[in-house]
Amino acid sequence: MTTPLRLMSKLRQMMSGGLAPLGEVIGLVAAEIGAEVCSIYAMRPGDMLELRATHGLNPEAVGQTRLRVGQGIVGLVAASGMLLNLADAQNHPAFAYRPETGEDRYASLLALPVRRAGHTLGVLVVQCEAPRRFGADDVEVLETVAMLLAELLAATGAVDGAEEGFGAALPRQFDAVALAPGIAIGPLIVLGTGRPPRHVLSDDAAAEGERLRLAVAEMRAGLDELIASRLPEGREPREVLEATRLIAADEGWLRRVAEAIEGGLTAEAAVHRVASELRERMRRIADPYLRERLADMEDAALRVLVCLEGQDGEVDELVERSPAGAILFARRLGPAQLLDWHARGIAGVVVEEGSASGHAAIMARALGLPALGGVRGAIDAAEAGDEVVLDADDATLILRPEQEVHVAYLRAIADRDNRIAGFLALRGRPSVSADGTPFRLLINAGLTLEVDQLDKTGAAGIGLFRTEIAMMARGSIPDVAEQQAIYGRVMDAADGRPVRFRTLDLGGDKLLPDAPSQPEENPAMGWRSLRVGLDRPAILRRQLRAMLLAANGRPLSVMFPMVATLAEFRQARGLLYAEAARIRPAPASLQIGTMLEVPALLWALPELMREAHFVSIGSNDLLQFLFAADRGAPGMAGRYDLISAPMLSMLDHVVREAAAAGVPLSLCGEAASRPLEAMVLASLGITELSMSASSVLPVKSVLGAVDLAAFRPVLDRLRANTSGHASLREPVLAWAREQGLAV
Ligand code: PEP
Ligand code: MG
Repeated sequence: MTTPLRLMSKLRQMMSGGLAPLGEVIGLVAAEIGAEVCSIYAMRPGDMLELRATHGLNPEAVGQTRLRVGQGIVGLVAASGMLLNLADAQNHPAFAYRPETGEDRYASLLALPVRRAGHTLGVLVVQCEAPRRFGADDVEVLETVAMLLAELLAATGAVDGAEEGFGAALPRQFDAVALAPGIAIGPLIVLGTGRPPRHVLSDDAAAEGERLRLAVAEMRAGLDELIASRLPEGREPREVLEATRLIAADEGWLRRVAEAIEGGLTAEAAVHRVASELRERMRRIADPYLRERLADMEDAALRVLVCLEGQDGEVDELVERSPAGAILFARRLGPAQLLDWHARGIAGVVVEEGSASGHAAIMARALGLPALGGVRGAIDAAEAGDEVVLDADDATLILRPEQEVHVAYLRAIADRDNRIAGFLALRGRPSVSADGTPFRLLINAGLTLEVDQLDKTGAAGIGLFRTEIAMMARGSIPDVAEQQAIYGRVMDAADGRPVRFRTLDLGGDKLLPDAPSQPEENPAMGWRSLRVGLDRPAILRRQLRAMLLAANGRPLSVMFPMVATLAEFRQARGLLYAEAARIRPAPASLQIGTMLEVPALLWALPELMREAHFVSIGSNDLLQFLFAADRGAPGMAGRYDLISAPMLSMLDHVVREAAAAGVPLSLCGEAASRPLEAMVLASLGITELSMSASSVLPVKSVLGAVDLAAFRPVLDRLRANTSGHASLREPVLAWAREQGLAV
């Protein structure tokens, strides 16, 4: 019998009468893997680890030797959740010598976290005199032993330091990342990382393998049913769920589970083990795409666990306890899980590690479920049942709000609902200002399902379709046929309303197979966007071909991003004409325009206006380059302003050039989404604005109420008297408020 199987079998015997004493377990482990020392450190209140039992170290140190989380090798393993395998531990920078243990004789050390339900309960350490690294077999055995020890420690009252401490019941506020808009208040439910397995060891690998097979089949059938019955409208939810299904069928992780069963684990313990390995890998991966894939895999693993528990007739306590209207907290969440929870009536979701381009975020937006992400530490600071305010409109999370805050948010939810109801009444009204100036509002979109917003908002069309968004969600650039299908669906859904497709605006090195090998210092000003398309014309040509094919004889409008010179525009346009010459049926009309977001292009306006069919100002980039202030850096937000003398002079100039040439001019940056900015832009003559869909009706409400003819001279006076202050925001805001405008 191999060491792992023999150890498992002996442990099983030892546990047959109930939980064995810690000392016996670690003595057996030391003997079986041939280590002189095996010790267990347990978590104590106050983030402290204490030597709880040892075989080989000085017994007097038990209960005496303590290390803070983060201190020494043991503390480092507890803090990082990662194992350390060291041939020469004493020379490791984190090594903290504790003379009372008598450990100075031992050179090599392997330390692993003991975790249960996502919490660290302690650290398991084995040591040897000989300087050697422990082998993969030893590591595997000890990982299983760590699972058993987690049960023993939980039974003997070890605590997770993170759950202790003062102020647990005080209100806490977190800044977050908004994943899907909306506000919700409700009791908290915490989605764990799977209940710890009740039985870890098995003596019948064949039976456990069969249980696994049945559970995997049930999990796959469940996913098929989800896809067939509960998906919200639109293509993306389907695509992300198909991705989960593919991953659920992936043989790689299932093989690892099967191997762990062969090694003597129950099916539950084996799935747990693989899921926690995935979790550990995810902690170390910075690439958001890979993290998403691992999260999908963990989603599948957790679904298998639920099926395994179902085989024992167990019911998921969380599902039983979860009230409708609750707010779900999860460290990570797959799109399929989110769909399940939505069906149970949750009011909102907080995904600690979620990002706006992640699958859970895409699904939450499609379901209209308020969602926040990027809130590190929130789960550890929360208790199930706590009241939570989730404000995705303000990217804020409040745990245990005070009574006044609670009441204020109830009012905010009611106001929001009323506002939305009021805005909806505006949908069919004409877009004309109080003084009779017509304006035209469009939406910015990037996913097919967002096209639904045209009907919901009454917008005139899509002024900016960011083609890179679907590719970022997908993780790669699809081939021509797939791209054609995406663009075709967008045009179908727009149903005759105009769509301006912008060619790929991928930034920096993201997702591109031909990314520069050196990371760039300033990716926003690096090899991005049209520069990539012109340097790698095959990528751009494929995209243009897909757009032409998708149009299939309908009118087509294409816009190039980040154009810096007239020559770049001509080159890109040349590629488009070359593709268009080969494709039949030709589009009914072909509009070719450019974004204006690089200041250099401002000095080519007369020629540009002669050659472009339309120009759309990308104020996000144009502002950042004009003021040399990073649009993504929160600390820079106060350093640039659209409502400022330099920006308004520049916009005036562009408006004049466009009017002289008779070229349609619009603006599609975030500024268009803000009613005050929209009012200023319309007064300058930029009356075609493309914005996020949620802003269309609020902007329409303000533009419909404002007397632009009265505002113009006010703005002129303010611009004439800037006295060195770049921003005119305050006086403009004061004027708008005097007029009773909802800015
Ligand atoms: C802009 O820069 O204003 C713009 C609309 O493009 P993006 O935000 O996609 O860079
Ligand atoms: Mg831009």
